Amino acid sequence: MSNIAIAIHGGAGTITKASLTADQDKAFRAGLEKALLAGHNILKNGGDAMDAVELAVAYLEDNPLFNAGRGSVFTKEGKHEMDASIMCGKTLDAGSIAGVRNIKNPIKLARAVINHSDHVMLSSYGAEEFALNHDIEFAPERYFFNKFRYDQWTEIRDSDLFMLDHTENVDDKFGTVGAVAVDRESNVAAATSTGGMTNKRFNRIGDTPIIGSGTYANNNTCAISCTGHGEYFMRAVVAYDVSCLMEYKGYTLQQACEEVVLKKLVDLGGEGGLIAVSPAGDVALTFNSEGMYRASRINDEEPFVAIYREG
Ligand code: ASP
Repeated sequence: MSNIAIAIHGGAGTITKASLTADQDKAFRAGLEKALLAGHNILKNGGDAMDAVELAVAYLEDNPLFNAGRGSVFTKEGKHEMDASIMCGKTLDAGSIAGVRNIKNPIKLARAVINHSDHVMLSSYGAEEFALNHDIEFAPERYFFNKFRYDQWTEIRDSDLFMLDHTENVDDKFGTVGAVAVDRESNVAAATSTGGMTNKRFNRIGDTPIIGSGTYANNNTCAISCTGHGEYFMRAVVAYDVSCLMEYKGYTLQQACEEVVLKKLVDLGGEGGLIAVSPAGDVALTFNSEGMYRASRINDEEPFVAIYREG
């Protein structure tokens, strides 16, 4: 029987042991494990990779600790604007939404774009109207209110700074959630969802909804979900570059991820990381930042959950 595998992330950045209390550390690990096991359960029961990544990401979107869905950061205007995308490695179908507001689970809307339209990407009001027509759940502004994120935003709201999530240093905070999986049929899929960057300009779009930058899946190579400073990930076309190194140069999954994240991105000045799986069930969790919230499970092996440079 072929391998099943799932990997998830909850953002990367200057996440050190000293930056989290023991309780926060525990809560992040528990949130990761819950989402991981939900997705893994689908694969274990013979379900498909698309369903597994969608569900794992929806769990992370529902957890206010992570910068996606409910835990999304504040924009310069004090609102929440979310981006998400999902891609199927078997068919190369892709669905993406950008700059949407009040959508409870943006990843479900991205999946609906595949299922109910001939388009790949919808943005802002158009995406919201599409959501209304396809029974996607909306949530009021107060659902997204989070004191911690509000305080993060008020610190810089009067400046031109915009920052990534998760750490204390304004310049190197990242937050986004993602999942990649391979199912029993050896089909791979990837999904990514984010609130973007704190104090981002209104309608600023990052790499998360850009197919090939923040998300990519192809049964010939791998499935990838990225997190980090989106502007660099877009310029480096990170997710597709990993796939290309495998497809055209014969790199292994690990080699391709290291080449892009540890060399190309570093040379460009881009901080962050990615998770990846291959159709054979290999998993890579590669980052050039201090830490990345991450978890993975292959077949029935023990779940791997980590935050800092550990394990
Ligand atoms: N990549 C996301 C963005 O630029 C942010 C993140 O991963 O934290 O919107």
